[in-house]
Amino acid sequence: MTHDAVKISTHTPEVTSKVNLLGMSRVQLEQFFEKLGEKKFRAGQVMKWVHQYFVTDFAQMTNISGKLREKLEKVCEVKAPEVVHRHYSQDGTRKWVFRVGDGEGSLVETVLIPADDKTGARKTLCISSQVGCALDCSFCSTGKQGFQRDLTPDEIIGQLWVANQSYMEDVEIAERTRSVTNVVMMGMGEPLLNFKPVVDSMSLMLDDFAYGMSKRRVTLSTSGIVPMIDKLAEELDVALAISLHAPNNELRNELVPINKKYPLEQLIPAAQRYINKDGNESARKHVTIEYVMLEGVNDKPEHAQQMITLLKNLPSKINLIPFNPFPHAPYGRSSRNRIMAFQKTLSDAGFVCTIRQTRGDDIDAACGQLVGQVADRTRRAEQWKKKIAQQGEIVRSQG
Ligand code: SAH
Ligand code: SF4
Repeated sequence: MTHDAVKISTHTPEVTSKVNLLGMSRVQLEQFFEKLGEKKFRAGQVMKWVHQYFVTDFAQMTNISGKLREKLEKVCEVKAPEVVHRHYSQDGTRKWVFRVGDGEGSLVETVLIPADDKTGARKTLCISSQVGCALDCSFCSTGKQGFQRDLTPDEIIGQLWVANQSYMEDVEIAERTRSVTNVVMMGMGEPLLNFKPVVDSMSLMLDDFAYGMSKRRVTLSTSGIVPMIDKLAEELDVALAISLHAPNNELRNELVPINKKYPLEQLIPAAQRYINKDGNESARKHVTIEYVMLEGVNDKPEHAQQMITLLKNLPSKINLIPFNPFPHAPYGRSSRNRIMAFQKTLSDAGFVCTIRQTRGDDIDAACGQLVGQVADRTRRAEQWKKKIAQQGEIVRSQG
């Protein structure tokens, strides 16, 4: 397989005090324009330039008067997070490593996975919400890193902006379209623990002046922060995925420690309430149940039986995820036969149960697995830089 792997930059981004408009929701942008003494509808105009035509230079926003464009240039900017590395595979998978925060900052990764479905070409973007994660699920490499920081709205929506923009770099402004069809908040971090920035960013995903995505194609995945599931239902209509991973409290306490605070008898009703909230017209006809398959741990016939009992009243689709191993992981991946037997038991009981397709390395990096790879790659890049520098010294001293 050939790759287009490009090292983009290693410099520290310049620090500016201009307001970044990229992550502002429509309401926030309207308020911003009102404060500037301008009409509210300017917000929609600027949003379209930024999120639909990928224009960041105010001078190119031709339906805005020259005077206002000058004013905007002075006080604000449109700035996506810095891409330090990108990797485009021949199979269509794309990955970006972003540097977020000031100075050296931290690294987060975003992955785009293409798939052909019955409606045409699907492009699913797996977006991160935090650097690291405080919840420390025992099978997750992000959790092993601990929590470092929340991402800001511009860093979250910036991942979608960069992914879409990457297909339009050589396209005339007037011809540009959005390529990403689906978003899953399944990268690094627990989205419900970075609530407002995540909700603001997701509102941009749904907004017709921005990405205009269907609410069924935007999914938030959570390990089960019960009060925040209820809060999400109040604020946003998106699809919900619950990272269940175990059908009883004893095992779930071990795999997903937040279960000790919000056990299954609270989590399942919260998922039910989320679905019931807006009736059948919403994105919430069912929840997706994610279940990572860990060899000999949660993949036995008795676990499948317990799943049937646990989920019998919850409209759900179950997605079995073959475990992605990482260095020093305390688990192995369940065998194909085990996974298929588990699926059969659930399908025979009437559940829609799918197995997540893995496509080698590319998909391994997609969900919950990003940081280890970023960290490894960074370490390798550092070692490589040192080596080059040392070689430079040798060449200089020889010369
Ligand atoms: N914190 C949120 C979203 C990010 S994790 C959550 O837990 O839902 C995204 C998904 O990847 C979750 O279902 C998570 O359990 C899964 N995941 C994490 N580590 C994994 C691994 N090593 N192999 C397979 N799936 C993993
Ligand atoms: Fe955090 Fe999700 Fe990983 Fe658990 S699975 S540690 S909640 S990112």
